[in-house]
Amino acid sequence: MPGHPRVGVLALQGDVREHLAMLARLGADASTVRRPEELARVDGLVLPGGESSAIDKLARAFGMQHPIRTAIADGLPMYGTCAGLILLADRITGGIEGQETFGGLDVVVARNAFGGQTESFETELDITVFDGDPVHAAFIRAPIVVSVGERARAIGSLPDGRVVAVEQDNLLGTAFHPEVSGEARFHERFLAKVRERR
Ligand code: GLN
Repeated sequence: MPGHPRVGVLALQGDVREHLAMLARLGADASTVRRPEELARVDGLVLPGGESSAIDKLARAFGMQHPIRTAIADGLPMYGTCAGLILLADRITGGIEGQETFGGLDVVVARNAFGGQTESFETELDITVFDGDPVHAAFIRAPIVVSVGERARAIGSLPDGRVVAVEQDNLLGTAFHPEVSGEARFHERFLAKVRERR
């Protein structure tokens, strides 16, 4: 149906429900994706926050790694939050032994980049591609983008310059969780990419 893009949330582990609720609120036809057949039915995919090493292992166990990599190469719009950003990164640091990513996003991401007391925090961020109010961002054992390659671009940074939001063609990634703070603009931007591609 026009105006109701079919999108999926990768539902192997992580905060799947929050993304489904946000996408439904924005008028998308959102469903969980665990299997290749389900991936084949959606026009875009959200990779949720959670534990990237667990999602990686489960994706391989469910035969999803190859289909997701193919979908990324085909230009399927994807939005990764936190663990999802880690999974989209071409390279990571601080992964567990043998941890892999789907890749596609030309960045290096450091896992668990905030230690001790700042493991979880909230802050306001200016996002270069949004007009209006700053984004209220919740960081939970969050990663940081330590290097942005030629194909990707930084769209949001902490006051000290560390990059926490990136975009590259149909891929969008944030180190924080807009779905838990009710910030809808990233999901809207993802849905715009989905509509454009259809
Ligand atoms: N620390 C988690 C990881 O490395 C990410 C945390 C999150 O998604 N909130 O996968």
